[in-house]
Amino acid sequence: EVIRETSITAAREAELPKRTVILTHPDRLYWPDEGVTKEGLADYYTDIWTYMAPFVVKRPLALLRCPDGISGQHFFQKHAWKGLNENIVLIHDPKDKGDTTPLVSIDDLDGLLGLVQAGSLELHPWGSTIADWEHPDMIIMDLDPGPGVPWERVIEAAAETRDRMKQAGLEAFVKTSGGKGLHVVSPLKPSAEWPAVKAFTRSIADQMAVDSPARYVSTITKSKRQGKILIDYLRNQRGATAVAAYSTRARPGAAVSMPLAWEELSLAIGPAYFTVNNTPNRLAALRSDPWEDFRVAAAPLEKAKSK
Ligand code: ATP
Ligand code: MN
Ligand code: MN
Repeated sequence: EVIRETSITAAREAELPKRTVILTHPDRLYWPDEGVTKEGLADYYTDIWTYMAPFVVKRPLALLRCPDGISGQHFFQKHAWKGLNENIVLIHDPKDKGDTTPLVSIDDLDGLLGLVQAGSLELHPWGSTIADWEHPDMIIMDLDPGPGVPWERVIEAAAETRDRMKQAGLEAFVKTSGGKGLHVVSPLKPSAEWPAVKAFTRSIADQMAVDSPARYVSTITKSKRQGKILIDYLRNQRGATAVAAYSTRARPGAAVSMPLAWEELSLAIGPAYFTVNNTPNRLAALRSDPWEDFRVAAAPLEKAKSK
């Protein structure tokens, strides 16, 4: 509590959104190694909510739930469950015909805290919103280094992915995954449908692998991955998910998927560098949101294809 109050500016403190969810067992250790409790996680999400909201609100969400923390059982869950918090919003996939179990979404910080209450340690949204399920509003190129790939190569892969997106008329932003790699994310005006977006991302991944076969692969064939980076474009298909910007990871270290400015990419900032514990300091030091222009930079894929 003390740490939180001293680590954010008074201005930000005044902006903190309302929060009404009551946590049971607030002292439960979700990341025992880092001393991060359920309440600590709720405080983290409260601090970053204004930055995170556009990436998690009103989207279908898959969750990695670990009710006993990272050392207990993990459930990757796409559907609603009995007894979930009243702030969690149930939704139905319009393509799921019949009486199927609803999917999960949130509208606000209280929804997210309802997910925290249920032990959701990772949030994995779709790349489209429930206002327009069939037209993604972002592309995620997931850069997965195989064993033995130096971090410098991963940074170069991100820069090359960005260049290729730019050549196609799309802006690109970068975040750490909180795991082993980087995600290059391009905002879209939602107009192209999933199959066209997938085909476009596949063509980028395939072309990178053709042009630099010693560096990149575009298909998941493990034997080929030693020393190479998988350009994983398969986040870009209907129903696929990727970890949200600012989501925590259910792994030791309490790392988060942190949006960066391109100039910040360096050997000093590895894929799991930013964590629940050091994010308050980062926010206090930031002059502006490195992804501030994400939505205004969105372009339609049709424009990309015509170039
Ligand atoms: P890393 O940098 O370590 O690769 P990552 O989040 O990119 O971190 P990946 O393994 O590349 O991890 O991607 C896995 C993706 O697959 C996740 O983003 C998630 O949304 C999706 N996924 C699908 N099914 C599962 C599952 N059962 N468990 C975890 N993730 C799953
Ligand atoms: Mn990855
Ligand atoms: Mn992947």
